[in-house]
Amino acid sequence: MTKITLSHGSGGRLMHDLIKKLFVKELGNPLLNKLGDAAIFKTGSRLAFTTDSFVVSPIFFPGGDIGKLSICGTVNDLCVSGARPRYLSCAVIVEEGFGYSDLEKIVLSVKMTCKKAGVDIITGDFKVVEKGAADKVFITTSGVGDIYQGASLSIERIRPGDKVIISGTIGEHGAAVLLAREELKFKAKISSDCAPLNGLTSAILNKGIKFMRDPTRGGLATTLNEIAIDSGYNIGIEESKIPIKESVRVLCEALGMDPLYMANEGKVVVIVAPEAEGKVLSIMKKHPLGRKSVIIGEVKKERNKRVYLKTRIGGKRIVDMLSGEQLPRIC
Ligand code: MG
Repeated sequence: MTKITLSHGSGGRLMHDLIKKLFVKELGNPLLNKLGDAAIFKTGSRLAFTTDSFVVSPIFFPGGDIGKLSICGTVNDLCVSGARPRYLSCAVIVEEGFGYSDLEKIVLSVKMTCKKAGVDIITGDFKVVEKGAADKVFITTSGVGDIYQGASLSIERIRPGDKVIISGTIGEHGAAVLLAREELKFKAKISSDCAPLNGLTSAILNKGIKFMRDPTRGGLATTLNEIAIDSGYNIGIEESKIPIKESVRVLCEALGMDPLYMANEGKVVVIVAPEAEGKVLSIMKKHPLGRKSVIIGEVKKERNKRVYLKTRIGGKRIVDMLSGEQLPRIC
């Protein structure tokens, strides 16, 4: 078999064979292998539950692909909620004619990322739609995680004087996907930062942090605006402190884009009490995904719910929420 046909999604023998020979073979575990109408599992704690659809184009890009992204995205939303990600669902919609080898590559990437993140896919779905009814492949993942004991992350706990930490350089996912689009002939090597954040986020829970969010679509600027609006306080950040790789900076300058709005898929914004900043920062810097962690600003006492940027030359400007879509189908 080289291409996926409509019969692979028909519910008949071909579909059952594909599910067993690819999905169950690669992603199997005792709960998934039962192939029941629903996976039945037990958990004793408070749960976090999230869902996300992935429509990234192109489906393969430096540093990742739609499979890896669909696991990291859901895992990371659980992580920043103070949960230990446990079980995921995975629903795949494929366009008729899609290459079997590409589907296999995506499933293997899902498998590897699940292993890295310590999660199992315990239920799933597979559908095929007519040519043109979808673009290649779309994936929806949902996930549940156990809230760690004592984790009490809440945007309402944010107070003036709290510090804003970013776990590393910004904008790489957005830049990598943009570069991978064929219409762009720009010579630069940029890889997506796509990665599961479990290890990094669990290490700093209960260490004085008040809130975390992953600055994905809309970038750091959008996440900080959400925090300003929902906490009710202004946030001040300093341009000179925001880490950006030179290649991303050059690409953004060439295209007239602002890296503050470029998507990240392996970074976290942490709001921490001032007395805990040193400890949290040193823990983050010891983790491979947090080596470049840095304080970029703080929560202000003013309450007009805006984000202000102190520019390199000493000016001050408002960093607004992303208006419109800067880059469609970035995740
Ligand atoms: Mg998120």
